[in-house]
Amino acid sequence: MDSAKNLPVAVIGAGPVGLAAAAHLIERGLEPLIFEAGPSAGAAIEQWRHIRLFSPWRFNIDDAAVRLLEAAGWEPPRPTALPYGGELIDRYLAPLAALPAIGSRLQTGARVLAVSRAGMDKTHTRNREGTPFVVRVEHADGETRDHTVAGVIDASGTWSTRNPLGTSGLPAIGEDSAADRISSPLPDVTGKDRTAFAGRRVLVVGAGHSAANTLINLADLAKDKPATRILWAVRGASAAKVYGGGDADGLPARGQLGARLRRLVEAGTIGLHTRFGIASLKSLDSGVTVGSVDGRTLEADVVVPCTGFRPDLDILRELRLDLDPAVEAPTELGPLIDPEFHSCGTVPPHGAALLAHPDKDFYIVGMKSYGRAPTFLLATGYEQVRSVAAALAGDHEAADTVQLELPETGVCSSDAGTSCDVPAAAAVASESSCCAAPEPVLVGFPTGLSHGRSSDNN
Ligand SMILES: Cc1cc2nc3c(=O)[nH]c(=O)nc-3n(C[C@H](O)[C@H](O)[C@H](O)COP(=O)(O)OP(=O)(O)OC[C@H]3O[C@@H](n4cnc5c(N)ncnc54)[C@H](O)[C@@H]3O)c2cc1C
Repeated sequence: MDSAKNLPVAVIGAGPVGLAAAAHLIERGLEPLIFEAGPSAGAAIEQWRHIRLFSPWRFNIDDAAVRLLEAAGWEPPRPTALPYGGELIDRYLAPLAALPAIGSRLQTGARVLAVSRAGMDKTHTRNREGTPFVVRVEHADGETRDHTVAGVIDASGTWSTRNPLGTSGLPAIGEDSAADRISSPLPDVTGKDRTAFAGRRVLVVGAGHSAANTLINLADLAKDKPATRILWAVRGASAAKVYGGGDADGLPARGQLGARLRRLVEAGTIGLHTRFGIASLKSLDSGVTVGSVDGRTLEADVVVPCTGFRPDLDILRELRLDLDPAVEAPTELGPLIDPEFHSCGTVPPHGAALLAHPDKDFYIVGMKSYGRAPTFLLATGYEQVRSVAAALAGDHEAADTVQLELPETGVCSSDAGTSCDVPAAAAVASESSCCAAPEPVLVGFPTGLSHGRSSDNN
């Protein structure tokens, strides 16, 4: 950031990773300017405040943020407890955002519309590196303003861009016009959204932890409101991946979730429909008819789309990015987390070097850095922003000394080409096989599943 030393660094998003980025920048003597589209910090997590995290507190808080908080007399939560999303906000993000050091640099109701280089479109190369960025923001007062900054950290997550219900990555025919029959991705079915689900026919679509959480909560609702009917559609031939690694899961709460779901399906409480790729939705007065690619139909009152998320790359259109063509994560990170080959939940530690783009001093971090891969963990994001802040401050040694403090694990394997169940640096050294690298450096919480989608024989 040589030519722009006196300008601030824009941080897009005041989720846990954006706020952690701001804390690290402040420690480095850099000036963060945080833009948050929602009304307060943690606006995306606010949408799933009723869901319990799988990882305990000690892995959910950032060191630099904690240093700021503790200086103001903050009491840390019990490190081994599992917080709800709401507790993550109330006990950590809200107090952090309220600190003068953060609050004075945080603008809420400020939606970033675009990022570019000042006075240059994407095709201009001369003096590009030394040219500041311009961040275009729609502010709470309804005005749109351009902000000139030295660097940009995009921590805007993926919550606002869910994957469509349809197969092929496209909305199903009729999906848009059936929007009033489609809920948010993680509705609070036993709490504030209860009336929309009690006694209704509910179709949950998808095969991840969000689907598992929603299905289990619907089963709780059905105990109280027996007229509630629970349908579950997955694209694959079985739900085995959602049932997960059980006892082999490094996060017991996550393993138990899958086991409970399996029991509910086996008991008939949940009606599972496999190989149900969605082709169409037809909204009627009486409900919605959901059609599969092979001609089957399901009738429901409301559809819950647990189909995952994708990054919003539109706001980055004028930047020069280097993204993996499949995963839409930074090119070097993509193969390490590609859900086609990995479901193990672990990742090689990585920082600024791996997250860099051709447009120098621009970084995508946090959930958005994983692109379409679903396995992101906060602890990974905190290490990303520690390293990125160091890089922006010119401390390349600290940036390159990656310090991810998660348990080391040896149970992950990749099925990219071969399967080998060895503790390995996985694809760090080889993008095609986890067997090639000699040193065990994978860290994280193993799911107990050793392969990605490509191992499914359907
Ligand atoms: C249900 C669920 C459970 C999870 N459980 C765990 C867990 O147990 N452990 C774990 O480590 N991880 C977990 N994760 C994964 C991940 O850690 C979370 O998604 C986390 O919220 C990601 O943090 P983030 O800061 O990257 O993004 P977010 O929390 O999504 O924050 C992004 C912020 O950017 C804002 N924003 C978006 N677009 C713009 C824009 N254009 N301009 C300005 N602001 C914008 C949003 O309003 C939001 O506040 C879970 C995720 C989900 C969905």
